Amino acid sequence: MAKLKIVKVGDETLRKVCRPVDKITPRILTLLDDMLETMHAADGCGLAAPQVGILRRIAVVQVEENGEVYELINPKIIAYSGTQEDIEGCLSVPGKHGTVVRPMHVTVRALNRHGETVDINASGLLARAFCHEIDHLDGKLYIDIATNIERN
Ligand code: ZN
Repeated sequence: MAKLKIVKVGDETLRKVCRPVDKITPRILTLLDDMLETMHAADGCGLAAPQVGILRRIAVVQVEENGEVYELINPKIIAYSGTQEDIEGCLSVPGKHGTVVRPMHVTVRALNRHGETVDINASGLLARAFCHEIDHLDGKLYIDIATNIERN
């Protein structure tokens, strides 16, 4: 495994729409491993491929240190309901946080590393993390929709 460099806001990579993964190759699996290691090293709860300079529809999420690791390939939000408002930050926007409104519940459909389609129901912080990471795959950052962005 290798720790990857995290791209910061201002880099055009973060504004591109990522391409879907059509085949889960050993390279993709290595990328997932490296993204997890990078996320853990940065003490983050999610990381999307464009944040490490790779324009593919891949994200990893883990909202608690001992919580479940979600590896999402080609993720899509197929259902959502409710709203929640809370503080959000991003490893690509260091030193800042802001208030963002997100759905309270989402269902995400994605491929896992074995190429199986999985539907994941999430609420609260996990739903927020999924929305944040899937936005990255479309070139969107939380600072585009946050209110009162502040320094940490
Ligand atoms: Zn982010």
